[in-house]
Amino acid sequence: MENPAELLRRVFGHEGFRGLQAGIVAHVMEGGSGLVLMPTGGGKSLCYQVPALCLPGLAVVVSPLIALMEDQVAALRQQGVAAAALHSDLDEDERFEIRRAMAREELRILYVSPERLLMDGMLENLSRRRISLFAIDEAHCVSQWGHHFRPEYRNLTALAERFPGVPRLALTATADERTVEDIRHQLALQDAPVFRGGFDRPNIFIAAEPREQERAQLRAFIKRASDGRGAGIIYCATRRKTEDTAAWLKLEGHDSMAFHAGMESSAKRESHRRFARGDAVIMCATIAFGMGIDRPDVRWVAHTDLPKSPESWYQEIGRAGRDGLPAQALLLYGAGDIALGRHRIQESPAAEEQKRIERSRLEAMVAIAESATCRRRALLRCFGEDLEQDCGACDACATPPKLWNGTIPAQKLISAVLRTGQRFGLGHIIDVLRGRMTDKVAQHGHDQLPTFGVGKDLPDPTWRGVARQLVAQGALDVAVENHGELLPTEQARPILKGEAQVMLRADLVSAKASANRESNAPVSGTDPVFDALRYWRREEARNQGVPAYVIFQDRTLAEIAYRKPRSLDSLADVPGVGASKLEKYGDAVLEVLQEAGA
Ligand code: ADP
Ligand code: ZN
Repeated sequence: MENPAELLRRVFGHEGFRGLQAGIVAHVMEGGSGLVLMPTGGGKSLCYQVPALCLPGLAVVVSPLIALMEDQVAALRQQGVAAAALHSDLDEDERFEIRRAMAREELRILYVSPERLLMDGMLENLSRRRISLFAIDEAHCVSQWGHHFRPEYRNLTALAERFPGVPRLALTATADERTVEDIRHQLALQDAPVFRGGFDRPNIFIAAEPREQERAQLRAFIKRASDGRGAGIIYCATRRKTEDTAAWLKLEGHDSMAFHAGMESSAKRESHRRFARGDAVIMCATIAFGMGIDRPDVRWVAHTDLPKSPESWYQEIGRAGRDGLPAQALLLYGAGDIALGRHRIQESPAAEEQKRIERSRLEAMVAIAESATCRRRALLRCFGEDLEQDCGACDACATPPKLWNGTIPAQKLISAVLRTGQRFGLGHIIDVLRGRMTDKVAQHGHDQLPTFGVGKDLPDPTWRGVARQLVAQGALDVAVENHGELLPTEQARPILKGEAQVMLRADLVSAKASANRESNAPVSGTDPVFDALRYWRREEARNQGVPAYVIFQDRTLAEIAYRKPRSLDSLADVPGVGASKLEKYGDAVLEVLQEAGA
């Protein structure tokens, strides 16, 4: 039996295990089952792929999405591993081929959808063979608590009964306690250990801004986050917005596409494919786009609306920078989103207990968005992790927002809302405060109010910031189901009476800041050797019809460009270059280096 660390080096080209990987691998090698909780990009796949290749027999990996399986299989084959994926998209012949490879004991890792695993006597077939382990990927699909519930996952309980001696390793990026308990219960893992990886993803720079001019903000963000390279994802709240945003980006000259649950499954698959394979692609999607994004080189993730919990936000932004290279996340949100989230929970038919949980998650999300101090600390606290110090890689750390005493503006705003009869949205309230004689103001005689013009001293965006923060703090509500009228709550009373102080954060909107920055920023130089390698990789990937990163990841190419090896031996020392890839691509890479004059 090969030693796991050696296999890791030989097959995957990695120098060593990361974090909990070594312990998990050793545990499985000894026949143990368990549950692995690691953030996206934490390195879950190796936890089962390494034991699968060290132990004799066939490893079976249950995975919920075809695209995910196929990309994993493509990546494994590049490393010289006999892997296959069995799912409903295959025709009769392809399925037959896989069964034959199984019968001949040629296959080492089989990815299978939960439906397929439980169909056509598959379990029967497996019970006649030597099975090294079962891995259950995206294990949170077993739980009704999340939004990825897959009823077929429930039947996986059968594995424990039918294969009592075979290790079962469940893996997920969800850390929510309830879901964790559900997984352990459903997959009969109550007595097995839970491996909790650290949740911090320090390479992702996180930022949040009020949504002032969405498109200008997105444009500036895309520019600073990707520099025209690398893939990105924009999460939108509605299907319509995914399509509108994708269309707009096309006009801006980007390779963009939309993805949402309402699309035909063939269109979804096509979108997935394009995203997996494209170079600087942008996916505009609802949160239905998630599982199955295997690309390690997503450089940025933006949200145009407030997510409903820190858990979902973190999972979504966690899709950026899985390769460990710098990545960026930007959250845009407004007062309306906060109110809408609250109203949705209020009106939902869910049980009170469930609503209470959802409410507390939403409020935690609001607090992160509105935080004036390190955002990552606030975020990780939601996962039970305490950072020893501020992260230095969030907008609040980079540019600490100034706090100011906003009690008087808050009073003015609340009083304008009350005096206009709680029947108007923020736009009109700001007109009144700033003393603008609009038709609406004239029509309602609001120029006669004592509050008319008392807010001339502050610009519109500041007033919007005051209103949003009052909504976030619970002193104002927005009638989102109506016309967005502002409504003071009980908590507005002590503010009006001067019994409560209101501390506000000065908002920073980076679109304008970066517009200034653009003009005097030096054009960042690019490395011609790295570019030559990328060009070669793109052609190679196209010829083989696989995603570029399964050939070599950016990180590996960057390292090759830096080291400029002149022999196969020194190329083999570069992390990410395993034996199989060395054999396949070694000569070609050396040639590219030579041509590029390296
Ligand atoms: P997850 O499934 O947890 O989201 P992956 O298994 O896809 O994460 O791993 C994320 C990235 O980290 C991949 O690009 C993988 O190659 C890399 N990686 C994982 N483990 C190691 C390791 N021990 N050494 C170097 N790179 C690793
Ligand atoms: Zn920070």
